[in-house]
Amino acid sequence: MANEVMLNTNFFIDVIENMGRLTEENRNYWTRLDSDIGDGDHGINLSIGFRAVKEYIDETDFSDIDIKNFLKKVGMTLLGKVGGASGPLYGTIFIKMANTLSDEKEITCEQLAEMLINGIDGVKTRGKAEVGDKTMVDALEPGMKVLEEKKSTLTVKDLDEFVEKMKKGAESTIPMVAKKGRAMRLGERAVGYKDPGAESSYMLFKVIADHLSRKLN
Ligand code: ADP
Ligand code: MG
Repeated sequence: MANEVMLNTNFFIDVIENMGRLTEENRNYWTRLDSDIGDGDHGINLSIGFRAVKEYIDETDFSDIDIKNFLKKVGMTLLGKVGGASGPLYGTIFIKMANTLSDEKEITCEQLAEMLINGIDGVKTRGKAEVGDKTMVDALEPGMKVLEEKKSTLTVKDLDEFVEKMKKGAESTIPMVAKKGRAMRLGERAVGYKDPGAESSYMLFKVIADHLSRKLN
């Protein structure tokens, strides 16, 4: 059962390190998407951020660091090191996830779902974007809805649905005109291109689902 599975700081360190690896693999892809409708730096921005996070992980002794402190530091690093709009937005997700907790050394899957819900809510508040604005919210919010509905009994199937909804959400940005971010200036010329932040957020939050699914299996 989902709620017998407990997640500790190491689980989150693994997740974040894998997000960093994924970022290196997709640095050029995300940058190319951003060249179509932005300024061509999205993959570079996230790579700078996650490399700084990796440095922090490598030089830290985690024996006294709980999940909240770890995720807060990840968020602050992304917020501080990433130049683009995406840095504060991704930073906010991790800081809000952290703020959901107190000093737990281990948490349940339901708590993780609540953390993600808060994180995604934080992006919406900070960026003031709604579904349909051609931003990362288009990928994240449909995923969040699945978590809200299923959080107390999360199964691998629910996590698959979480990922599928984010993937479809990222694809849904292709025909959109942007109402937020740099692509807004392009008007109709942004139609036909996928939003880079929607694609990166779908792919990055899939990492959490993949790790959790392995635990539930
Ligand atoms: P910049 O636009 O400053 O160059 P990035 O290229 O790193 O920053 O990130 C661009 C992405 O940020 C966009 O594809 C979009 O998903 C996301 N974004 C921009 N503004 C907002 C906003 N107000 N709310 C949510 N997401 C946003
Ligand atoms: Mg950019």
